[in-house]
Amino acid sequence: MERIARQSPWGPLIVADAHVHLFSRHFFEILAAQKPGLTVEGMQSQLDWQFPPAPPEALAETWARELDRHGVDRAALIASIPGDHESVTAAVRAHADRFFAFAMVNPKSWKPETFSDVRVACLFPAMHGYSIQDEIVEPVLTWAAQGRRAVFVHCGALSVGVRQKLGLPSAFDSRLSNPVDLHMAAARHPKVPFIVPHFGAGYFREALMLADLCPNVYLDTSSSNRWMRYHAPHLDLRVVFRQALEVAGHKRLLFGSDSSFFPRGWHYQIFEEQATALYELGLDLAGARAIFGENLLRILAA
Ligand SMILES: [Zn+2]
Repeated sequence: MERIARQSPWGPLIVADAHVHLFSRHFFEILAAQKPGLTVEGMQSQLDWQFPPAPPEALAETWARELDRHGVDRAALIASIPGDHESVTAAVRAHADRFFAFAMVNPKSWKPETFSDVRVACLFPAMHGYSIQDEIVEPVLTWAAQGRRAVFVHCGALSVGVRQKLGLPSAFDSRLSNPVDLHMAAARHPKVPFIVPHFGAGYFREALMLADLCPNVYLDTSSSNRWMRYHAPHLDLRVVFRQALEVAGHKRLLFGSDSSFFPRGWHYQIFEEQATALYELGLDLAGARAIFGENLLRILAA
């Protein structure tokens, strides 16, 4: 089928966003169960967001129209709490040509039986209190290896805006968030693509070390990358991209926006800032095609 292109400094570009959160109705129901007195209706009044319709297919439709509006061809949709993966697989069934199912997994309670349509398991070791080196992670890695799937591992600073706004526990154990801890897991499973979001979210040097050591490690560029403030002198996107291109190369960077809620919808400013920075660095059209879409499609090609 004809793909959709977005205007960019390089001309029309086919964009596949590697990082969009699907905040389904079920996601809010699971969150509500985590704090006594919290209800979905109560959250609606606390958050200045449009609340999702109950059927995930309807939310998928909203996202598909939003991507159309912005000229975005495809997006990874992340089920952002353990137990919500069926929302993203329903979305993918409704629009198989637009979405990929990513799902947050807690290896301590994970049951692979219902995960056949999920393409990427998203691990948050600091949030769920385990080391990526623990044996409990191995079944997830084996599942990925056997099904040509990928594994996303959140490293570095982790703040979940929606949890903070709702007063849900948000102190996650940072000792479990160093990308270097992933080294042996990535080395043991060389065919599994490992995605480290936000350039390591504060562990930029360590994420680059890991990418240098393991050719199956990819960095996602998503979000405003506020971690750049941790560096002195202050880093900016051009410096980050120059360094990431030097070490990981354009074939191992995945554009992501970190979009999540409506009415904001698709966070186009992230695309604009990153495209501008890369264009100014002299990235060519082949590099832009790779980072903004082809790399994600390649690693998820079943
Ligand atoms: Zn995110």
